[in-house]
Amino acid sequence: MSTFDTVVRLIYLVVAGLLVLGLHLMNSPVTARNGERLSAAGMTGAVLTTVAVIVHESSIDATGWSVLAAGALVGSALGFRFARTVPMTAMPQLVSLFNAVGGGAAAVVGVSEFLRVAGVGTSVHAPLHTIIATVLDLLIGGVTFTGSLVAAGKLQGTISGQPLVFPGARVVTISLSAVVLAGFGLLLAGIGGLPVLMVIAAASLILGLTMVLPIGGADMPVVISLLNAFTGTAVAMAGFVIDNTLLIIAGALVGASGAILTKLMADAMNRSIPKIIAGGFGTGDAQAAVSGGGDASVREVSADDVAIQLAYASKVIVVPGYGLAAAQAQHEVRDLTKLLEDRGVEVSYAIHPVAGRMPGHMNVLLAEASVPYDQLKEMEEINPDFPRADVALVVGANDVVNPAAREPGNAISGMPILDVDKAQSVIVIKRSMGHGYAGLDNPLYTDPKTGMFFADAKAGLAEITAAVKSLVGQAA
Ligand code: NDP
Repeated sequence: MSTFDTVVRLIYLVVAGLLVLGLHLMNSPVTARNGERLSAAGMTGAVLTTVAVIVHESSIDATGWSVLAAGALVGSALGFRFARTVPMTAMPQLVSLFNAVGGGAAAVVGVSEFLRVAGVGTSVHAPLHTIIATVLDLLIGGVTFTGSLVAAGKLQGTISGQPLVFPGARVVTISLSAVVLAGFGLLLAGIGGLPVLMVIAAASLILGLTMVLPIGGADMPVVISLLNAFTGTAVAMAGFVIDNTLLIIAGALVGASGAILTKLMADAMNRSIPKIIAGGFGTGDAQAAVSGGGDASVREVSADDVAIQLAYASKVIVVPGYGLAAAQAQHEVRDLTKLLEDRGVEVSYAIHPVAGRMPGHMNVLLAEASVPYDQLKEMEEINPDFPRADVALVVGANDVVNPAAREPGNAISGMPILDVDKAQSVIVIKRSMGHGYAGLDNPLYTDPKTGMFFADAKAGLAEITAAVKSLVGQAA
């Protein structure tokens, strides 16, 4: 092995170490920023080293360099612009789009290497490991590409969040899988080349649609994590095809962490991953078994009413949801809870694993407003505390506090929820009686112990804070 090759391998080893360490640091919000920095440094090192390898081997000509430079420039400019301008609320959709292009790019890399090794003819013989890795790369990358585009559309609201089920979907899925298997068999027999690869690609792209379109209700978090795991796996497969160790390591890291996240999300929602992939979840009737929703009466409260309840409570649990993110009200909720703490009220935040629109959404949001980490309590930890809470203050949360989850036959049946209805009293801040992501009525809102404060979360919280201040001022 030449000195150059040895140096390249050593750099790749350091890069792999940086990526592993970066991922590890992302375990906690306290160290996550450093984790991001280390991983970004590792990626920069990987890209520069790869460019050095291309120069050293003179493996591409002037046209190749132009294509490479144009792709890098356009991709970086778009990525930079999106990351800077996309609002925090649209971040989940952006992540889904990144997943789509990651999976798609890995599939294209696999195909191009296959053609380089085996040629474009219809009678080609590629090594077995290249055939296996290319077919897996195409299948996973193709499913990820269209699946992630649909997920992004569902999160953005351009595609209905409800399950889109069509008759015969299972038959189509099985037929498409058979097409991929048949294509694999043909390639093994040395028949087909590019045309067969194209058929496998088309079948995989349609499989992505048939997998994600029927998933709705509240099950999207599992799908999003799963697609993330798929992206990593497709990249690792591309690494096998082009025999690049670093690509295999980076892809495996994304694939493994995505798989762990998928398991966590599925457990949090009490769902089975195979059944979600088979399109069996989120398809419950949106309203079927929700009792106490529609016609029961609602008790509306004012900012002054809420202020009195909060100021004279001894224990308050804040339950943030997607509405807090949509209103960007993290600083206002922090101001209010700080005021209450100064009065000696015990405050904690109840974090449901799928609150918001992306894993960890509430943690990121509240960390941005410097809410102390020790006040953030996971669902299992906080649920036993609700009966002791004088007030549960629900800010823009709906599905994650919907007691309908305890009833059978609806889109969130079986999903563990925050036991807000067990608190002594409940205040809900939201703008209307509108539904959450799963599209269900919420019996919590008509529970006699619940007071509804109809307002935008940001404006409503500011109003309550002002009311508490004036109340405290009067009492002093
Ligand atoms: P929901 O989406 O169930 O409900 C959010 C509520 O916020 C709505 O009912 C809405 O009511 C209210 N709201 C919206 N804007 C504002 C505002 N400006 N001010 C005040 N309230 C507002 O949120 P949850 O967090 O309870 O549940 C998350 C849902 O999203 C779950 O179903 C989950 O499965 C799903 N999901 C989660 C993902 C994740 O990874 N975390 C990914 C994809 C989906 P109104 O309009 O009346 O104000």
